[in-house]
Amino acid sequence: MSFLELAGIQKSFGPVQVVHDFDMTIEKGEFVSFLGPSGCGKTTVLRMIAGFETPSGGTIKINGKNQESLKPNQRNIGMVFQAYALFPNMTVHDNVAFGLKIAGMNKAAVDARVKEMLGLIHLGHLADRFPYQMSGGQQQRVALARALAPKPQVLLLDEPLSALDAKIRVSLREEIRMIQQQLGITTVFVTHDQEEALSISDRIVVMNSGRADQIGTPFDIYNKPATRFVASFVGTLNLIEATVVDPASNRISIGDQAITLREPLGPVKAGDTVSLALRPEAGSIAESAKGDTALTGQVVSSNFLGSVIRTRMKVGDPVISFDMFNAPGLSPPAVGDVVTLRFTASDLLIIRE
Ligand code: ATP
Repeated sequence: MSFLELAGIQKSFGPVQVVHDFDMTIEKGEFVSFLGPSGCGKTTVLRMIAGFETPSGGTIKINGKNQESLKPNQRNIGMVFQAYALFPNMTVHDNVAFGLKIAGMNKAAVDARVKEMLGLIHLGHLADRFPYQMSGGQQQRVALARALAPKPQVLLLDEPLSALDAKIRVSLREEIRMIQQQLGITTVFVTHDQEEALSISDRIVVMNSGRADQIGTPFDIYNKPATRFVASFVGTLNLIEATVVDPASNRISIGDQAITLREPLGPVKAGDTVSLALRPEAGSIAESAKGDTALTGQVVSSNFLGSVIRTRMKVGDPVISFDMFNAPGLSPPAVGDVVTLRFTASDLLIIRE
């Protein structure tokens, strides 16, 4: 039995169905991200777990217990939102103590628990401050401490980092992951930021128009995208239309250059089009294409991005991007140069859906 089970979840608002047949099981202590573009239904699923929305169909179980008849405050769930949502007229201490007092805990126990929570987020020294006296990142850490203080069985995080600037976002996501692992708390994290999801999750659910397109580890989601949508949403990617030359030997052509794929092409015939995905970081510039899987093209742009130089080259009609890692002595190709990009046949993934 999994700790959190979502089975056949549907949700409609009036005539519009925004979540379709959503199935997922989450193990105790797992960190799962719902990743997808704006409006794909991530928050709606999260709000159904919390009890703020009622599913139009399907069941939600936590630790084997059907949640249908339980109100949000009966579900023992901690939640953090994008807006910090602290009580502005209460100190940090009182914000974190709030849920504990409501639960009827005595003062000594409340004070001990608040101290423990503020220690966890390294803000013990700010216990007497009010929210307006703190940075956004600090406020969000207090919101996390407040959500965790009553020892919830599940933690739900709805884009908790979106309102913060880039540097704080990275450090706070690492802190959230560390605290989550330290406490072993089952966590669902909603984000539209693929790097965020890839960096901190045990598993990711990529959502597309109210459906789970793919559920997998960050490694699998990135390296083995199941659908065209996942391939294009997660990471930068070349999506290339290739023409089948010989199905029996998995031979295809890109522009006027033929390549033999490792993966079987499946039921296609010569002349059919197949979609291929190639990550920009997959290949490297080579002296020649001889004996290898390679594409030769003319450079149309070359942009310095800091850690990498992203170059685009034209291979017949298709334009393919590739990255060269920045290093001392590197001389990036110039616009107009003819270059050969060499990679391995398994870097070219066939996208079937
Ligand atoms: P975002 O990242 O922008 O928050 P999301 O993936 O979390 O997007 P949801 O907020 O779950 O998406 O919304 C999914 C769809 O449901 C959207 O089309 C939204 O407009 C619609 N929706 C959400 N809540 C309601 C509501 N209370 N009434 C009507 N439609 C709603």
